[in-house]
Amino acid sequence: MQLIDGKSLSKKVQDAVKSDIEILKAEQGMVPGLAVVIVGDDPASHAYVGMKEKACKNVGVYSIAHKMPDTITQDEIIEIITMMNNNPHIHGILVQLPLPPHIDTTKILEVINPRKDVDGFHAYNVGRMVSNLESFVACTPLGVMKMFEEYNIELEGKDVVVVGASNIVGKPMASLLLNANATVTVTHIYTKDLKAHTSKADIVIVGVGVPNLIKEEMIKEGAIVIDIGINRLEDGRLVGDVDFDAVSKKCSYITPVPGGVGPMTIGMLLQNTLISAQAFAKEKQQLNEGN
Ligand code: NAD
Repeated sequence: MQLIDGKSLSKKVQDAVKSDIEILKAEQGMVPGLAVVIVGDDPASHAYVGMKEKACKNVGVYSIAHKMPDTITQDEIIEIITMMNNNPHIHGILVQLPLPPHIDTTKILEVINPRKDVDGFHAYNVGRMVSNLESFVACTPLGVMKMFEEYNIELEGKDVVVVGASNIVGKPMASLLLNANATVTVTHIYTKDLKAHTSKADIVIVGVGVPNLIKEEMIKEGAIVIDIGINRLEDGRLVGDVDFDAVSKKCSYITPVPGGVGPMTIGMLLQNTLISAQAFAKEKQQLNEGN
């Protein structure tokens, strides 16, 4: 079994982003900017935002976090996003999910300028991704695809089962795999016999939020297992959705939790923010040349 080391792969991505940012700064005088909007006081969400802010600082992305109480109205959030849409120093806008129940998440996400939608959640980008067109892609599934690429894991013709079908994890994951010519099965809470699907798969990708959901007998010998789940146990330990100790003995590749997909998500966010800034810089240069 080989461990897929998301931590060092993410560092490699972040080092590359850092040097490209230095070039962008030197050649175009531009520093990529990321605005993070966070509503309420959910400790996990604040921890994720803290990690993202730290990573931005490390690679040289300018970041601002709009931290708002959960009494905020939808219109006030829209106002802040509109301000960020119009701010030339901001190239990426991220709304930390979940939002409180009185806020319409889709409405909020669709206010973001799709060109600054570095999380890839805007319906414009989702539609383009499904159609295999250039777009911003959700950072977690994009990070998983980067892992496959770096570890030379071929997807064409492979039987892949995605467990979990959320808009931010399972569905974009399935689309990217389909675009890579894998044969994709998506399973979810209503799937009748999960094991019947996972036990035949060459690759199993799990993003559910249930510790130990995927057990040894559900995995084929030599399969590849990607664990996207993040669960905090009562004793404080962080675990994924896979029974790592048992499953790792049976599979060919596996991602650990922590140190697997989580760090890749942050790496991809920084990469998307850089790509956005580069696109804005190019546009500015073309406008200047035209004048
Ligand atoms: P979600 O609650 O929105 O969706 C969960 C999905 O799992 C749903 O499609 C549901 O139908 C399915 N599901 C629930 N119970 C199931 C079961 N018993 N069998 C099969 N399917 C089941 O969650 P989400 O936002 O997609 O997040 C899923 C997990 O991924 C969470 O643990 C979350 O913390 C983690 N996550 C990790 C990263 C990362 O960077 N590693 C990023 C985002 C989410």
